[in-house]
Amino acid sequence: MYITDNHMHIDPIRGVGIEAVKEFSSAGGTHFMLVYKTAYDSATGIKTGKDFGKAYDYIIDLSNKINKETNAKSYPIIGLHPAEFHHLIMDFGEEKAFEMALEALSEIENRISEGLAFGIGEVGRPHYDVDKFITDLSNNFLIEVLKLSKKIKCPVQLHTETFDGSKFLELGELVRKYGNPSKVIKHFSPPMVTICEKIGIYPSIIAREKNILKALEEGKRFLMETDYIDDNERPGAVVGPKTVPKTTKKLLEKGILSKEDIDYIHRYLIEEIYGIEII
Ligand SMILES: [Zn+2]
Repeated sequence: MYITDNHMHIDPIRGVGIEAVKEFSSAGGTHFMLVYKTAYDSATGIKTGKDFGKAYDYIIDLSNKINKETNAKSYPIIGLHPAEFHHLIMDFGEEKAFEMALEALSEIENRISEGLAFGIGEVGRPHYDVDKFITDLSNNFLIEVLKLSKKIKCPVQLHTETFDGSKFLELGELVRKYGNPSKVIKHFSPPMVTICEKIGIYPSIIAREKNILKALEEGKRFLMETDYIDDNERPGAVVGPKTVPKTTKKLLEKGILSKEDIDYIHRYLIEEIYGIEII
């Protein structure tokens, strides 16, 4: 049985690193998306805005190490976190920050085209209140990301402010106009399966049992994630690394999910969206 966590951060310096992956795999987790955080808080010691390529290579190397040293298989996802973009705008001004963001995007494109990374993420808009010009510039960058995703057929993990139905519809329009909906994943999504299906994107839902039960009322077309943050200063900021396998197995025992459902959520959808083979 395959169990995939669609969004985890692993940070060997600020958190427990590979130990968290071992916990995930001891609970039954088999695959996960290893999502880049930011250059300034990753363990790279690289200054933000200076050399994104090095920060991305750090995550790619970490992924290789995980795949060698644990039973789980990780896939690096690299992006420009909206909070990091916000910092760049404050430090360097709108024009220079946008230039830096495009440079980062070209580093991302190179690595995905070479098969070293498997998607762009997390990108989007800050989840906290910001001035309108920050949101506008973030949207402009998102448009560039969506265009690239369409061009090179790679998935995008979106980080945004809190979402509701009307936000989804607004996002749907943007995605249809510039990108390919079937390559767009709303990370940290509310359990709104129907509306995502309607606009063609995929929700990735924090795997708390209550959340997943809510999602299942609408359907099975969704991914599960923890957004595990791996930062000792913020223990349990979201949920722990065992949550996706634990919840999945619990729902199987209760007869709420069948083995076929699990295969659909954790393997089939992942293969379809990411263009990878889960084995
Ligand atoms: Zn995250």
